[in-house]
Amino acid sequence: MQQTCLNCGMSVNETMRSCPKCDNALNLQHDGSTITVDIAHQGERVSEALRKMQSEIDLARKDVAMCIRLVVGSGLIRDEVLLVLRDLEFRGDIKGFESEPFNAGAVLVKLK
Ligand SMILES: [Zn+2]
Repeated sequence: MQQTCLNCGMSVNETMRSCPKCDNALNLQHDGSTITVDIAHQGERVSEALRKMQSEIDLARKDVAMCIRLVVGSGLIRDEVLLVLRDLEFRGDIKGFESEPFNAGAVLVKLK
C-alpha cells in the first residue's frame, strides 16, 4: 500500500514513518479533516461498540484525518468509551479527546 506525503506529494510506502524525500514525519501529517463514526445507534452491545471504536481509530490513524468524531449516545457505551479513550491517551495512541460542548452524545478524538 502507498500513501502520499502531504508535504511534498511524493508517493511512499505506508509502512514508512518519515518521507524519504522531504523528511517530514508522515505519521503526524493530517489534512485537518474530521471523520464521523456512529458506534452506538445500531443496537450495539458495549463490547461491540468498543471493538468498533478501536478498529475505526486504528483505520483513521493510518489516514490523513486530524480528528475522529465518535457518536456514542448517552448510555453505558459513552461511559466505557471515555474510559478507553483515557487509556489510549495515556498510551499516546491519541492526542486527546473531549465531549462536544453542545452534544454530550458525541466525543471528538484528536488523532494528530
Ligand atoms: Zn515528503
